[in-house]
Amino acid sequence: MSDNQAGDATLSTTGEHPLSSTAERKAVVMDPGQAPGKDWVIVTRGLKREYDMGGEVVRALRGVDLAIRRNEYVAIMGPSGSGKSTLMNLIGCLDTPTAGEYWLNGMLVSKMSDDELARVRNKEIGFVFQTFNLLPRATALHNVELPLVYAGVSSDERKRRAKRALEQVQLETRMNHRPNELSGGQRQRVAIARALVNNPSILLADEPTGNLDSATSEEIMRVFENLADTGQTVIMVTHEPDIAAHARRVVVLRDGVIASDDRRSAFKQSMGIS
Ligand code: ADP
Ligand code: MG
Repeated sequence: MSDNQAGDATLSTTGEHPLSSTAERKAVVMDPGQAPGKDWVIVTRGLKREYDMGGEVVRALRGVDLAIRRNEYVAIMGPSGSGKSTLMNLIGCLDTPTAGEYWLNGMLVSKMSDDELARVRNKEIGFVFQTFNLLPRATALHNVELPLVYAGVSSDERKRRAKRALEQVQLETRMNHRPNELSGGQRQRVAIARALVNNPSILLADEPTGNLDSATSEEIMRVFENLADTGQTVIMVTHEPDIAAHARRVVVLRDGVIASDDRRSAFKQSMGIS
């Protein structure tokens, strides 16, 4: 099972999921140049991303200090244009910052070349998108196997691991179905299984319920909750407060900086969600 020592240190008496405290996060982001301890899966310090639009500079991120510990389940919220996608692209190693530090699993990613970045991305990050991005003519099992084909894993081992990933999303009975033989929720579960098959450090989901009705969104939230309960670190971007309220911690971006970073309970209270 997963190494849960970090979590045990903060297991709260209220029975909430282990969560880094505000003081711990402040301490770890205030130490520029220092590799964070191994229980911190993500640390950003003064992260900036500017886009040069032919002379005019767009400041999409203006100094983001974010620390996420292994096994946390975090939602990132904020109005359109607040920098959510820009931050997700940086966290997901799809882009490099203009300034600031990004540490992923103790590695200083913000200084890496594109090749190194691609290697880290394939190993550490599992992506889930709003549009499921499944191959229409391939079975669920084959869709989930694909990342392992690119990684050069043998056929038997691929099947074994793909089946296990489908079990993690309770879809093992639909292994041989093609996407058009599955419901929207089941398709998204296949996409989640595909994201998990490489055993990534982080599951990164960008608006994972954006194309789903509310009942199906709840189905997907139960899958994430279940994964978080079994030790998977989950980071999800959403603009829907009801969806964000499923995470254990909610980070709100505004104008390229963090406006608030709270436990779910505090977030629900502020949004008037019971
Ligand atoms: P969100 O996902 O919260 O809607 P984004 O991260 O997409 O916000 O965008 C933040 C800001 O950066 C916006 O003002 C947007 O117009 C700008 N921006 C995002 N991507 C680019 C880009 N590739 N080139 C120029 N400006 C961009
Ligand atoms: Mg966006």
